[in-house]
Amino acid sequence: MCSSFRTLAVVPALLAVCLIVSSVQPQAAVRNKQDRAVTDITGGKRVRILLKSGCSSISAFVNGTAGIVCDGVAVANGVFAGDIRANGSSGGIEAIIQGKRYHGTSALVVIATSGDPVACFQISSKRYRGSLVLQSRRGGFDVINDLDIDDWLKGVLPAEIGASSPVEALKAQAVAARSEAVHKLARPPHAAEGYDFCTGVHCQAYKGMTDEGTISNAAVDGTRGIVLTVNGQVIDAVYHNVCGGATSSADDVWDGPPEPGIVPVFDSRSARGAPNLASDEAMARFINDASMDIFCNSSQPGYPNYAKKYFRWQKTLSAAELERVCGVGRVRDVVVTERRASGRVRKLRIEGERGSRTVEKELPIRNMFNLWSGLFVVRVLRSGNTVQSATFTGAGNGHGAGLCQMGARTMGFMGYSFTDILGHYYRGTRLERVY
Ligand SMILES: [Zn+2]
Ligand SMILES: [Zn+2]
Repeated sequence: MCSSFRTLAVVPALLAVCLIVSSVQPQAAVRNKQDRAVTDITGGKRVRILLKSGCSSISAFVNGTAGIVCDGVAVANGVFAGDIRANGSSGGIEAIIQGKRYHGTSALVVIATSGDPVACFQISSKRYRGSLVLQSRRGGFDVINDLDIDDWLKGVLPAEIGASSPVEALKAQAVAARSEAVHKLARPPHAAEGYDFCTGVHCQAYKGMTDEGTISNAAVDGTRGIVLTVNGQVIDAVYHNVCGGATSSADDVWDGPPEPGIVPVFDSRSARGAPNLASDEAMARFINDASMDIFCNSSQPGYPNYAKKYFRWQKTLSAAELERVCGVGRVRDVVVTERRASGRVRKLRIEGERGSRTVEKELPIRNMFNLWSGLFVVRVLRSGNTVQSATFTGAGNGHGAGLCQMGARTMGFMGYSFTDILGHYYRGTRLERVY
């Protein structure tokens, strides 16, 4: 049982709905889970975002200008003002909308206009632009939001960098998020499950239109279709929360080859050259150096309170905690055995009374010790041949590759343009408009 849906009360835009519904072609609509739900009605790209999975029923409300498409066939359009009640079974999806019964074997789509005023849906107190897709899956259905990529970005910016960020930082975030999405749409991470992206940071955080802001929406509209490219290819413009002073390359933190445009840089206007923080000593000096004017330093003006704990942090694990998380009995040593030039720890060896193990890559290492980033030094306190405690002294939050959100905010406050910000974090890239 999923949460109830409600659409916002909107002023009907009759002309818009006629244009939109007439553009829905059966051959372009859902045929199976790999197909797009609806045609591209805006000239831009569309994304399919999973909101809920494995639903057996939903209670919804529609009040706005919309069309209804069952198994790829447009069956109704007009102004709707009433409940949607949908149930899923092995025979498909049955919905009652304004007292009328509709059935879809593979999918039932309610297309809301994305004009002004915007028709939208509501689920669990969140509103969404675009189309509501109920897609059959294992005797029930998934709830998918299918919408224009720039409408989706309007719900990504508030969730990712905050709608109150400076407009140039918001524009930079919009271009980065759009580039990452366009790049990944070539092979969507959730294609096998019938949609493109989830709503979490695994893909890009998305909250629908509830938290949209006027300035963040203007940042999306003002950069519409603009992406970062290298040699004409849209790059995977990943980004993160706080780099801690030096960004990482993609191959420092993930498997696979280096990504074009994603190289380590000092997050500073004074530091020059590429970081060389591969040794513990250089890393420790860097973390303790208060002289660098780092953009994502938590002492910068306008820094949000929630992120202040990330710039520099420390975490100590007791002997008992180490024994529990490491799984090699009582721990005898914790040693960084590979650190990249960006400072990120790539391999960490744990020696214990029941043997030793090596943990590889930034995320597994972070998860094991519950750390904010892979940019740290570790010091152990020994008693005899066992470790009494291990203290991780670190910097930043997240993988560190690409744009640093808190650094981009500071650059925005300092008067840098979005092209300056993108040029700082994505070296050797160009801006191009792809739609
Ligand atoms: Zn995902
Ligand atoms: Zn930074």
